[in-house]
Formats: sequence, C-alpha cells, structure tokens
Amino acid sequence: MILGKTREQWLEAIPLLKPLTEAAPFWWLNPNRISTARALPDLPLQMADVMAASRRLDRFAPYLAQVFPELKVSEGIIESPLRAIPRMQREGETFFKTSLPGQLWLKLDSHLPVSGSIKARGGIYEVLAHAETLALHGGLLHPDDDYRVLDTPPARAFFSQHCIEVGSTGNLGLSIGLMGARMGFRVTVHMSQDAREWKKDLLRERGVTVREYASDYSLAVASGRRESALNPVSYFVDDENSQSLFLGYTVAALRLQQQFQEVGITVNAEHPLMVYLPCGVGGGPGGVAFGLKMVFGDHVHCFFAEPTHSPAVLLGLLTEAHDAVCVQDFGLDNRTAADGLAVGRPSGLVCTMMKPLLTGAYTVPDEMLFQLLGLLNETEELQLEPSALAGMPGPFQLMGLPETTQWLTEQGLQEKMHQAAHLVWATGGSMVPASEMAGYLAKAAETSPATSATSPTSFKRTPNIKDH
Ligand SMILES: *Cc1c(COP(=O)(O)O)cnc(C)c1O
Repeated sequence: MILGKTREQWLEAIPLLKPLTEAAPFWWLNPNRISTARALPDLPLQMADVMAASRRLDRFAPYLAQVFPELKVSEGIIESPLRAIPRMQREGETFFKTSLPGQLWLKLDSHLPVSGSIKARGGIYEVLAHAETLALHGGLLHPDDDYRVLDTPPARAFFSQHCIEVGSTGNLGLSIGLMGARMGFRVTVHMSQDAREWKKDLLRERGVTVREYASDYSLAVASGRRESALNPVSYFVDDENSQSLFLGYTVAALRLQQQFQEVGITVNAEHPLMVYLPCGVGGGPGGVAFGLKMVFGDHVHCFFAEPTHSPAVLLGLLTEAHDAVCVQDFGLDNRTAADGLAVGRPSGLVCTMMKPLLTGAYTVPDEMLFQLLGLLNETEELQLEPSALAGMPGPFQLMGLPETTQWLTEQGLQEKMHQAAHLVWATGGSMVPASEMAGYLAKAAETSPATSATSPTSFKRTPNIKDH
C-alpha cells in the first residue's frame, strides 16, 4: 500500500504513472502551472529572499577571494561561464532526428570554481550563512566588518568548536566539505553507496570525516540528520528541506541576467527562454528555476530532467503527494550511473515551490546520458559527468515529439521558437579525475548511436497532457 492505495489503484487514477514507473523514457507537461505573478503570493520564498542571498554572497566575496586563489580573478564571486554550443546543436539534430530552431547554450556549472558542480552554489552558500550567524552571535564578526577577519587563527579556532554534517551522493558533500573545512569547521559527510571513490578521497585529504553507507541517498541523509541532532554543536545541512541551500542556488538567475546582457540574449514575450535542469532531490534545479521565474517571469520555461530509474520529483509532482512518495514505492530501483541524480524521494519544499512554476519534466535513460557525454566531448571538447548531460535531450525532444510540439502550438510558442534561447544546465564534471573521465568516454564509445538499443525516438506517447 502507498498512502492507503494499492499500486494498481494509483495507476488507474493516474495513467501516466504507468510508463514512469516502468522506467520508460517519459515527458510530462505540468497541468498545475500558473502565471508567476499568481503563484508568488502563496509561496514561502520571494524575490526579496533572492536579493538577500545575493547580498550575503557579496559580503563574503573578499573573504572567498582570499581563501581560494582561484577566485582572485572574479574577486570572490563563484560563477560559471555561459557558452553557445553550435556544433552540439547541429550534431544533436542528427542524433535526435529533429531540427532545433533558436540557439543552444550551455551553462557551465560543471566548471564552477572551488567544487566543480552546481553544489558550489547552494552548498557553499549554506556554510557561509551558518558561519555568519555563528560569528555574529559569537561576537567574532560585526555587520560592517571586512569578512576577511574570518580567515584568521581565532576565527578558525572558533569554527573548529562547531560541526557541520550532510548526507550526499557526492557533490554536495564535496562542496560542504571543502568550504566547511577551509573555514575551520569539523565536517562529517554521510555518503550514499553511489558516491564516487575520488570524491571521498579528496574530502579525506582535506580533513573531512567521510561516513560510508551501503544504502541510498535518503538513508544517508536520515542517518546524518539523526546523528547531528544528538550533537548540540552540530549543524545539519538538510538537502531535502533547507531554504538556505535553496536560496544559494537562486542567485544564479541574477548573474545569468547579467551574462545574457553581455552576450546579447534577449528574453521577452517574443524571445522565450527554455531551460533544462538535471534534477536529483530538486534543490539545485528548483532554486535556479525559482530565481529564473523571479527574474524573467512567464517568459522563461523550466524543465527538470531525471534518470528513468530515479524520477523522484516527477513522481512527487505527478502524484501530488510530494515527499510522501518515493520511486521505490512504485517498484523502481533508483539505480543510475548519474550519481548526482540517484535520489528516490524528492524534496517537499521543492515540490511545493515548483508545482505552480515548473513547465515540465522528462526522464532520460542512462545509456543516452553516455551517448550525449561522448557527443558533447566530440563536438565541443567539453567533458562532463553523466548526471550533467540529463538536460541535453530536452531541447531536441521538446521540438521533436508530437505531444510537446502540439503543446508549443497551443501555447502560441511554436512560431517564436526560431528566436528562442535553449539553455542546458551542465551541472558537474570539471573535477572528475582524468582516469575516471576516460572510463566515461569509453562507455560512451560503447553506446554509440549506431549500436544503441534506445532509439531517441522510441518515446511512449504521454496521453492526457492537460492544459490550463
Ligand atoms: C546534485 C546534482 C544535481 C541535482 O541537484 P539536486 O539538488 O539534487 O536536485 C544535478 N547534477 C549534478 C552533477 C549534481 O551533483
């Protein structure tokens, strides 16, 4: 029984659950989406919260520039490049057997400084916010101080009396661990079974305690949360519920607005922006999407991408049961090579925030992640980790599937697509060791399109796409 109903009763009530829970590649357009202006009054966070998060990062910038030499050039701002990927756009059209009008862009959070993934936004922000609160209360810092005062022996000694704990599939642990340890905190990372060895090794090198679990992410989080609660000086970074973490991600939208101006991308009623975000528990893509809705309103459409075996947020939204359901309830195994996305139960906060704002979501088989990893490497000489490719099918499938093209027509978007910007969010990869990357590329070569069993056009129709 799942929330008082059998699986059969669930499938009968929501027919779309059938392909989703059979791990078939799947597209969904959100029937609950409403205009941003109408959605906002009912949401727990607002634009003012995004601005406050941005100001906090600005306050810490001089400190960050001092403690991480790689941040000197950006004066302590942790931001990633935006890049047009025209060769990938052309080859992707061949791969997906469809044309992609508009321009394809990649947001390279894979190359974010300090921790090499999208988690460098939320994770580092939450550590800084916590450190600021402690230091202000501890009398170590005054609001008008230069925050470089936190890079002194007394400050580090102060932080070393405090613990930070987090549950992670790898990248969140990296970002919390690298930042926390640098400030002087005692950090414990509770790693799920799918976390890569090199991430654990790197953390141990920096003095972080790594606890390993033979279970998946939700259990690693639960265990970390429990242990942390027993320790009065421990702070738990709660990936499933944290507003602070979420807000760290939102600031990306303000920075992106500026980058768009620099490269001449217009976003308005005639120039839609379509954004495709790899999604695990939902915090990273949810935060970015929320920020983008605050900045671009109804002119931006956000889509989440999940592995076919771990569609946690899709399941939460489709059932409207949010974090009360997990993919295992419906017989999925939560096994995927996309370790950053290997999450069975979604964030309740993110489901609530995204229900009225998200345009759609889709799933991607692991095999396709590797095919696209290889294709991006060939066309643009960019190396990403498998999770980070989940966004890539989005623009091609949006333009190529019967259901989505019908939707584009109904929305009056079809005739505007030649001046659309498609932005694929590349969420991780620059810190992957060369030997590991060679393994990914070898796997990509094995699953070349010619030998693939997963034809990109083998998508099941998703009937009853309800409009609003
Ligand atoms: C964590 C992660 C994501 C997704 O972020 P969530 O907050 O878990 O939804 C996507 N890609 C990579 C590489 C990640 O590490």
